[in-house]
Order: sequence, then structure tokens, then C-alpha cells
Amino acid sequence: MTFATLGLIEPLLRALETLGYQTPTPVQAQAIPAVLAGRDLMAAAQTGTGKTAGFALPLLQLLTMEGPKVAANSARALILCPTRELAEQVHASVAEYAQHLPLTTYAVYGGVSINPQMMKLRKGVDILVATPGRLIDLFRQNALKLNQLQTLVLDEADRMLDLGFSEELANIYRMLPKKRQTLLFSATFSDDIRLLAGQMLNDPLSIEVSPRNVAANTVKQWVVPVDKKRKPELFVHLMRKGRWKQVLVFAKTRNGVDALVDKLQGLGVNADGIHGDKPQATRQRALDRFKASDVQILVATDVAARGLDIEDLPLVVNFDLPIVAEDYIHRIGRTGRAGNTGEAISLVCADEVNMLSAIEMLTRQTLTRKMEPDFEPEHRVPETDASGQVVKKPKKPKKPKASGGGGKRNLGKWVDSGEVAPAEPSIKPVRKVPVFNTGPRKKK
Ligand code: AMP
Repeated sequence: MTFATLGLIEPLLRALETLGYQTPTPVQAQAIPAVLAGRDLMAAAQTGTGKTAGFALPLLQLLTMEGPKVAANSARALILCPTRELAEQVHASVAEYAQHLPLTTYAVYGGVSINPQMMKLRKGVDILVATPGRLIDLFRQNALKLNQLQTLVLDEADRMLDLGFSEELANIYRMLPKKRQTLLFSATFSDDIRLLAGQMLNDPLSIEVSPRNVAANTVKQWVVPVDKKRKPELFVHLMRKGRWKQVLVFAKTRNGVDALVDKLQGLGVNADGIHGDKPQATRQRALDRFKASDVQILVATDVAARGLDIEDLPLVVNFDLPIVAEDYIHRIGRTGRAGNTGEAISLVCADEVNMLSAIEMLTRQTLTRKMEPDFEPEHRVPETDASGQVVKKPKKPKKPKASGGGGKRNLGKWVDSGEVAPAEPSIKPVRKVPVFNTGPRKKK
């Protein structure tokens, strides 16, 4: 199959040739003809499957072939994305695909001044990529009207809900013309996503290009159990041992990102970090430098890393496991893209066992554990498997106290986990994963 047989017009085929896309990916093969035929779509496609071109190419074609010229302060197509980074990235892809077409494109998001965006919208744009909050601001300030809208795309819809945009989406829904084409893309399908789809879509075609909620099988995944306090040391050890060249690292908190970057920079490693506290321009610069291989290790929080598209990224490291299991799929989706193989290593401490269990349940696999010599944890990570069971072994009996006092100092290496518990932060409850009873079951 070729892009030409899918019915794409010559200016698009020329752009794809320049980009080196030869064969449509499965999501493109299914989505392109359906969108060209005017259907609504509900697509389960994780990142790295080529979903952006899957919706952007037919969308650009329809806008070129049909519909009126865009009016002032209007948009003919709207692509909603959960984060600024994804909005920038989707916009960059759309602009590349549209390079030989007489269409205008633009991206708007929060965290930067709204005035230049308002100015830019004055003449109207054919395709507007936006994050939900900023879109509503522009609408309320009369900088944008949506009555000319032909197509709405909800990209990474699950992530938009995870980030708490459900109210914004409900508001945007009320601003849209009733007659329109709507395309919804999501890596995972929870009940909330189905509810949203039920409201927004009209007789949608369902597309599923990889088993639902199962991470790309081109990614080799494993877990290294370790004590929490030794994670930085283990990271440096693995980095040197594996001669890591370009690594995207995920940490749970902003402080966690800064601490690891400081440590790495202190060791002379070329590392940088991105998180929500950093200005947009700084984040973009770090990302660009990482993509250009000027930065070797990029440490990020989930929100900041959303939508990063780095070709051939060989390795993703979960310095901390994500609190929401679905984020694991998004994280490791950064590697093993477009047919390449990748690796995803998670450093897991005893505190994170419930998160590990939730991830194994969601991805329906037991992650291989590899103990690293000299880093075996004192606080054992209980056994887990894809059933969601956490096997807690009975506690070791306490060692009798050495006579003459001396307290814990005399306990040597052996410390009962019960004794250190008060000093550790408690584990946040892991969100329940409501996905198992919703999809069609595979026949045995
Ligand atoms: P996406 O899932 O849309 O984020 O795309 C993942 C990556 O695959 C991006 O770097 C795209 O440029 C690339 N890509 C998308 N479609 C194709 C294709 N048909 N052939 C080769 N690369 C592609």
C-alpha cells in the first residue's frame, strides 16, 4: 500500500516524499480513507504509531478541497492537545505536511503572552492547534469564533482528562457548531473517555492499531529493584556501565528532576531538566538541544514530557514510577517508535510496589526484574504480577538488640522495614484502572 493508493493529493504526496515516509502506518491506512470519507473517528492509537499524520493528512486535504476561505478571527479546523509541547509538536508536523498547500496553521497555548496570539488570529487560520485553557481564553476575549469550524480533533484525549481538562472540554463542546467532523485519538480508553466520545462523536468508526492499553512490543522493558535513597547512585552506575548516549529520564516531581540534574551536572554529565516550573522558552530550548544531541540526558516530569517526539530514542529510564499507570505507556512510547526497537528501564523501590503492580495489570505483563550487583535493596520490593497481586512475605523477626544499648547504629545493614516506615513519605493511593471490562475480549 502507498499513500497515493489511499487517495491523497499530489502536494501532500510531495511533502511525504521529502519527509521520507514511504508506507502508511496501520493507523494511517485506516484513518486516512475514513476521514476523507467524512466519518467521525474514535482511534485507540498510542504515541509513535504515526497518528498525527493519520488525522492531519486527510484533514489538510479536506480543507484544501472543500469549504470557504477562512474568515477573520476564525479557524476551520481545531486540534486540541493536552500540553504546550504536544501542541508545538503537532503544529510542526501539520506545517510540514502542509508545506505545498495554500493553508495557514498556528498553535496557541498558555504560559506565554496572549496578545501576539490574538493579533495572529485576526486574519483567521485554517488549522489551529490549541491547549484547552488558552482556547477558551481566546474565545472569551472574542479573538476567536468557532462558527466556521469544520473539523475538531481531540489528540491524546485520555491525557486531557488526566490533566483535569474535562470542564474545559465541556465548555468547548458548547462553543462548537453542531455540524462538524470529530476525530478522537487516545492511547487508552477509560469509561470517562467513552463518555466523552459518546457526547462528541457521531456514529464514529472505531480504529484500534495495537492491543488496547498494551505498551508497544518493540520496547524491551525491565525493572531494577533498588532502595529509594540509592537511586541516584544506581542511575549513574547504569549510565556508565551501559554507556548511555541519549536518554530521556522521568522523575515524579519537579524537585526530583532538579536534584537528579544537579547531581549529573556535578559529575560533568551533559544533563538538563524540564518541568512545569520552568518557563516555556527554557523548556523548548532544553528539548531542542536534547533532540540535536547537544544534551545527553534530559530529565522530565510527565506533564513536561508529554508529546515529545524524538526519532530513534534508544532508551527511556523511569527514575520514579508514575503515579498514574497509564503514564507508563505514554512514557515508554517515546522509544521503540516507527518500527525501531527501544529499551525502558524502571528503577523501583519498595515504596513503589503498588504502582508497579498497577502498571503490570494495565499492560498485562509481569515486568522482568534484574537485580544489579551491589545495589540489591535492603527494603525488598514485594513480588508482583499482571493479576494485580502484591505478594507480601511475612516480616523478618526483629534481631535482638545488642546488649549495652547503642540503638539502631548496632543493627548494621539489617533494618526491619517497619522501623524506618515513619521516616518515609507514605505511598499515594494508586488510581484504580477501570479499563478491563470495557473492550472486546480476545478470543482464545
Ligand atoms: P506520531 O505517532 O504521530 O507521534 O508519529 C511518530 C513518528 O513517526 C514521527 O516522528 C513521525 O514523523 C513518524 N512517522 C509517521 N508516519 C510515518 C510513516 N508513514 N513513515 C515513516 N515515519 C512516519
